[in-house]
Amino acid sequence: MPKARVKTKQRFDVAIAGGGFAGRTLALALARLAPEGFRVALVDAEKAGGGGGHDARALALSAATKNLLTALDLWPELAAKAQAVEAIEITDSPLDAALRPHFLGFDEELKRGGAGAYMVEHGDLSRVLAAAVTRESAIIAFAPDAVTAFKTDGFGVKATLGSFTTIEAALLVAADGKHSQLRDQAGIKCVGWSYPQAGVVTTVAHAMPHHGKAVQHFLPSGPFAILPLTGNRSSIVWTEDKAKAAEIMALDEAGFVYELTKRFGHRLGETELAGPRQAFPLDMQIARQFVADRLALIGDAAHVVHPLAGQGLNIGMRDVAALAETIIDSARLGLDIGALPQLQRYERWRRFDSAFSAAVMDGLNRLFSNDSAPVRALRDLGLGLVDRAPALKRFLAREAAGATGTVPSLLTGERL
Ligand SMILES: Cc1cc2nc3c(=O)[nH]c(=O)nc-3n(C[C@H](O)[C@H](O)[C@H](O)COP(=O)(O)OP(=O)(O)OC[C@H]3O[C@@H](n4cnc5c(N)ncnc54)[C@H](O)[C@@H]3O)c2cc1C
Repeated sequence: MPKARVKTKQRFDVAIAGGGFAGRTLALALARLAPEGFRVALVDAEKAGGGGGHDARALALSAATKNLLTALDLWPELAAKAQAVEAIEITDSPLDAALRPHFLGFDEELKRGGAGAYMVEHGDLSRVLAAAVTRESAIIAFAPDAVTAFKTDGFGVKATLGSFTTIEAALLVAADGKHSQLRDQAGIKCVGWSYPQAGVVTTVAHAMPHHGKAVQHFLPSGPFAILPLTGNRSSIVWTEDKAKAAEIMALDEAGFVYELTKRFGHRLGETELAGPRQAFPLDMQIARQFVADRLALIGDAAHVVHPLAGQGLNIGMRDVAALAETIIDSARLGLDIGALPQLQRYERWRRFDSAFSAAVMDGLNRLFSNDSAPVRALRDLGLGLVDRAPALKRFLAREAAGATGTVPSLLTGERL
């Protein structure tokens, strides 16, 4: 049952604007792990308990994100709906090539390190988080509602909602997505650009089992990813030039399946659509600051990356773990959780890492969405060399799992 909206002025420790994956997970981390009596306001423009069922995406969750969900007792609910990625194959060839040679594979590395990702559908993750939020008495949900303005002073932050309710907190968290109004209101600028590509997403059912194998096929217009879901189903993330993507989206079902099959191939037998299709604009964007006076940015409000390696939310979950740890440590020491020196610890932890990840995704997209013969020869040589370097492959698998660098405790599965 969604909680009733509270109309009076109220005081919280933390107010979170945005109830997407990042906002909900942070609310749950604080409600479950912060000192007794900690109160969280979660304001979301969408209806409380919303399951995100309209979103065609599936998400590759890294091992670190799985650890975070395990530490918050959320993974058991999701496990039956999650498909382990047990092998990854990377190929690079033009669309009309007769053969798709295998250039790089992660098979042994995933088995040995247990570092593989898990695929979950958007609606499943959304429902598990929404249900957990409604069970937490420390979280008061204001939804559907929106933070429309805020003001800070030495004692706290006052946020005005669209419903004219005012809420006060020591800290306001902007988890309001890539077009974050809170970030704009704080005067924080972003660096970045929009890609001339769109991401077409759908789900297919196929006759033969995928055995947990994910395939990334680099085509000249962008990567075409086949990601295993439970049962004989796969999620497709298909990057195309914007104009071509619009043409493909406008096709009738038979035309769409024809274009899809040209890229998907026949490796898994007869294939049919098993979900809606949706196209997403693709951007690379990073906020110049992740914090301001009594304000912290997390998730897509702080950074947006190209989806070619399925890392956007995983990077956001690293923000959640780092900010939760920063807030909880400060609260235990009796420090002001919204004061800039405390928040700067979070920014130091996360900004460089996020900018680095965004730059790597951008570089890979530029390198691979390119049909020049010398570039193709060089990158195929590079992939072949990486395939023959076990130590480097193990490092790359650990990096994708979110297990390198200074990792917040929650990402190792440790409760704070
Ligand atoms: C094609 C594609 C494939 C992807 N695949 C993967 C993947 O495999 N793995 C992965 O890790 N990531 C992936 N991503 C990235 C991932 O989807 C995003 O990083 C993630 O969903 C962002 O979550 P968020 O909570 O930060 O923001 P959002 O999901 O955008 O949530 C923001 C919320 O804030 C609310 N809101 C907005 N304004 C206000 C306001 N003023 N007040 C209150 N609420 C407000 C909105 O209603 C929304 O609920 C993919 C992205 C794309 C485009």
